[in-house]
Amino acid sequence: MNHSIKKRIEVVEGDVTKLRVDAIVNAANTTLLGGGGVDGAVHRAAGPELLEECRKLGGCPTGQARITKGYKLPAKWVIHTVGPVWRDGEHGEDELLAGCYRNSLALAEQNGVKTIAFPSISTGAYGFPMERAASLAVTEIKTFLERNRSIEKVVLVCFGKSAFDIHKQAVRELAG
Ligand code: ADP
Repeated sequence: MNHSIKKRIEVVEGDVTKLRVDAIVNAANTTLLGGGGVDGAVHRAAGPELLEECRKLGGCPTGQARITKGYKLPAKWVIHTVGPVWRDGEHGEDELLAGCYRNSLALAEQNGVKTIAFPSISTGAYGFPMERAASLAVTEIKTFLERNRSIEKVVLVCFGKSAFDIHKQAVRELAG
């Protein structure tokens, strides 16, 4: 595949709240009022003003995304997306998760974001199998980058070595 697309997707191991990118994506829930995992870490690092702005948004349906400022985070923006809760794969989970990536990238583009970092949406508390989620994520990102010129870098931030290996492999197979 197109070499320049592969160069625009980076896999790193680490904490998404620490990254110096224009936007980080939060694995939020439909209330947008905070929770555990990535969501808890994002709210702790951004400070209470983030929750104040989130309250005004009135929630977000599964598969969609909303944008706020990043407040105390190094990132200027937070894009909150709501992944599907994994049931058995027969309840639209794939399409909803693909929507998270598509809609987050569309919001990033509309806001002039050049660098964006995603955690592995839905693969923690929501139980989505990570290999399957990583394939979907890379496929959607690649499709988006093929027609988009403004986003320079999409970072896949992995919590732990096994998550890193899974995402590296997905990029190698699907965008390499
Ligand atoms: P969800 O509810 O969408 O499943 P979680 O926050 O529970 O979201 O987890 C999503 C993924 O992000 C999991 O793979 C988890 O290990 C990982 N994760 C948790 N905290 C962080 C963090 N600070 N930075 C990056 N990834 C994280």
